[in-house]
Amino acid sequence: MKKAFKFRIYPNKTQEERLNKTLDVCKDLYNDLLEIKKETYEQTGENLTGYDLNMIIKQHSKIKRKQLNKVHSQVLQNASNRIDKALSNFFRRVKEKKKGKKIKVGYPRFKKFYKSITYPQSGFELNRRLHLSKIGNIKIKQHRKIKGEVKTLTIKKTLSNKWFISFSCEIESKPVKHKYPENKIGIDLGLENFATLSDGTVIENPRFLKKTERKLKREHRRLSKKKKGSKNKDKQRIRLATRYETLTNQRLDFLHKLSYHLAQQYEYITIENLNINGMVRHPYLAKHILDTCWNKFAELLTYKEEESGGLVEQVEPAGTTIDCSQCGYKVPKTLTTRIHRCPHCGLRMDRDLNASINILNKSLRQGLSEVKPVERGVHFSTEVSLSEKQEVPK
Ligand SMILES: [Zn+2]
Repeated sequence: MKKAFKFRIYPNKTQEERLNKTLDVCKDLYNDLLEIKKETYEQTGENLTGYDLNMIIKQHSKIKRKQLNKVHSQVLQNASNRIDKALSNFFRRVKEKKKGKKIKVGYPRFKKFYKSITYPQSGFELNRRLHLSKIGNIKIKQHRKIKGEVKTLTIKKTLSNKWFISFSCEIESKPVKHKYPENKIGIDLGLENFATLSDGTVIENPRFLKKTERKLKREHRRLSKKKKGSKNKDKQRIRLATRYETLTNQRLDFLHKLSYHLAQQYEYITIENLNINGMVRHPYLAKHILDTCWNKFAELLTYKEEESGGLVEQVEPAGTTIDCSQCGYKVPKTLTTRIHRCPHCGLRMDRDLNASINILNKSLRQGLSEVKPVERGVHFSTEVSLSEKQEVPK
């Protein structure tokens, strides 16, 4: 299992210049390699591999070599890895599109900015300060210990000109603790509330979303009023970027705490598969933020649960809102229908609660038929009994 450890670093003037220079050199190299790859393919039909690209880096012209020599060789080679990745993503999406998936497919573009550099294996050392080959010993604020085996180091510059590093580490996940998970829960992620659990617990949307949304709108408006190319516009751009970063931090903090809490409390959690094709894109800023929130939440929850020996399952969302969680009767709803009322069995409860119970039961049914209990070390005895469900008071 992979886990990232992120820290802020404080380069001095010289180091910052070198870091900026490195970003620039890598960006140019990336664009050069992408062009060579494209041209070679168009002229000869040959698809250059990562190895070929690395050879080209070595044979680059003298003037360019002078620039490249200022950067650690592995950081340069990482540029060709990124091209490899971008292209395999591109070809995968082309295939998916041919199969009828409704997605946009574009050939990887030339980069105007390069936001991060990666040291794949060597060239860095952490010892009170962070030593980076060809950059120097940089001050670092290390607020927690790194666990596991360090695989790569990525250095990032934010839009407001702060520097962060992230160690990607390989961690062994614990074996599944319990053969018969007692504490199982289904979670419905929603717009009205952040999440509804199948035991009736409701987790409200954090307030900072609304507050920050207002502030973001204001800063966006201010930015659009500033003169193009002016110093004030630049200042405003940084202010806006800082606001976004604050929001990201608040959001991450909220998601970390919530997912930690849930992983501690439940051994088996089911959520909807969010990476579905054609997921509704919401027209409002806050909703966009929620989208990214949900994906991050799923990611954090999964690794925290794995770390503590539990399991997170994802189910396809089809039918979870409509179906009656008691009798299975289909009860269509509009977005504004808040209460699930079943004309067949008379069940009446909050729509999100109904959905969360469906989500859990769906995965339990799949668990019984598709998951091999011996292999996973997990066995599901019964579905949630109906008496446990809470009804919404009239
Ligand atoms: Zn019913």
